[in-house]
Amino acid sequence: MRRRTLLLLLALTVAGTLLVLRSGPTRTVYRGGRILTMDAGSRVVEALGVEGETIRTVGSEAEVRAWAGPDARVVDLAGRALLPGFIDAHGHFPGAGAYAIAADLNSPPIGTLARMDDLVERLRAKAGDTSRGEWVIGIGYDDTLLAEGRHPTRADLDRASTEHPVAAIHVSGHLGAVNGLALERLGYGRESADPEGGRVRRDPGTGEPDGVLEETALDPVGAVVFQPSTLDALRVVREAVRRYVAAGVTTAQTGYATAEQVRGLTLLSRLGVIPLRLVLWPAMELADERLAGRFEFRSYDERWVRLGAVKLVADGSIQGYTAYLREPYFVPSGDDPGERGYPRIPREELVRRVTRYHEAGWQVAVHGNGDAAIDDILDAFEEAQRAEPRPDARPVVVHAQTARDDQLDRMRELGAIPSFFVLHTFYWGDRHREIFLGPGRAARISPLASARARGLRFTIHCDTPVVPMEPLRLVWSAVNRITTSGAVLGEVQRIEPMQALRAVTIDAAYQHFEEASKGSLEPGKLADLVILDRSPLEDPASIDRIRVLETIVGGRSVYRAEGE
Ligand SMILES: [Zn+2]
Repeated sequence: MRRRTLLLLLALTVAGTLLVLRSGPTRTVYRGGRILTMDAGSRVVEALGVEGETIRTVGSEAEVRAWAGPDARVVDLAGRALLPGFIDAHGHFPGAGAYAIAADLNSPPIGTLARMDDLVERLRAKAGDTSRGEWVIGIGYDDTLLAEGRHPTRADLDRASTEHPVAAIHVSGHLGAVNGLALERLGYGRESADPEGGRVRRDPGTGEPDGVLEETALDPVGAVVFQPSTLDALRVVREAVRRYVAAGVTTAQTGYATAEQVRGLTLLSRLGVIPLRLVLWPAMELADERLAGRFEFRSYDERWVRLGAVKLVADGSIQGYTAYLREPYFVPSGDDPGERGYPRIPREELVRRVTRYHEAGWQVAVHGNGDAAIDDILDAFEEAQRAEPRPDARPVVVHAQTARDDQLDRMRELGAIPSFFVLHTFYWGDRHREIFLGPGRAARISPLASARARGLRFTIHCDTPVVPMEPLRLVWSAVNRITTSGAVLGEVQRIEPMQALRAVTIDAAYQHFEEASKGSLEPGKLADLVILDRSPLEDPASIDRIRVLETIVGGRSVYRAEGE
């Protein structure tokens, strides 16, 4: 570690210690607003009493004031709403901070990119302040939102720079495009073989890679993006923290963590740089290392950093045509009318791996967007339970976008938890209907109401940085299912606001095996709170426009909106 970095970390440690010393076990009373507890009865109460980092009492204002005594600090909510802090069921912290070091290639409504020339220009500008030979990375482009309606090619990216390896990562994170120098560095050429579970797209005439890399073929680029220098890593983490606390998030999630990420994030958490609780999902490769005794993890404090489920990725993304569907895509990407994506992990291997991790006593979470992938995942969960019955294993199907009714039935039987990426109805809903899935399947992506009707406990997530961390837009999406064009996609799959709020609080805590300490406002739980400018139960149509005013983790304020 360089000396300057060490000094910086030391300074941060001192700052962290001072913050800890300042927060004594004073009693605080919150009153005068709508306090949504998310307890078993979804009670809305008058007052909440907090001592130090813990919730001590909930109920009528008289009760809570009697407990608090005359010297307590009283926070008047002035008609605003107090809820449990939002818990990220699935995302990739600190990926949202990558914009601190990478070019932003998002198109509206997230960014401003309109055409290929804009993309090239952004990357050229980034190359301008990057040392020669170093990687230039841009993230978030969406081929279907560019005027040209296609992915960038090596030729496009060579226009950005021929002196830097350049990579543009697709908004799904499952595909990307690189320039000629990057192809050379990665060892992809006319003669190179495609890796298993991935594809190097090629010019049909010459067989030369055209620059677009799918799935596992993109993994070596991911390794570059996710292993920045120590100082860059700090910048990324701080930017991600800034975005998460401003959104009311109190528990962040890292959905496919490497050993470096686990070590780095644990260190930064311990130093007080990350005032959020973290649930890290080790990537399957890291789980293998752990099984082989080559990786050990002991949390310094389980309330702040925990290892959660082992994460596997069974297929890709629908908008990248790499989600593995049972029926073909509505409009194929090329000439093949039978195109239906492919598995990233062959079924037999998936079953073997899931069984192995399950037998080790771990929770398992598997990314599955296409229903053919979900079939494989549920087969694997079933085989694992047959090999080693465990009553409360809580396996997770991550995204579960095209889950059919028969698959929801199976999830219920298996005690599996679907974590739905329901914001797809907003960001990609119109294109799911018109391009990727067609009207029938599009109307029932993220079938929340069907899951609810079965009594299936589920969560919802933003998969940040795929889309921005906005739990309230996420809740709004589950409640309204409105697309960017303003259409309603699958009206019958809409759910009630309270149900959607539970999916980002108590049910997300349950998914992480943390419902005893988080997710609802009940005595004995951690005082992880968010104050909103109004209750989300008031006007379901405008939940996305509710402002986060304050975020509190363990009784300590970590964010205040301007003017608060
Ligand atoms: Zn993800």
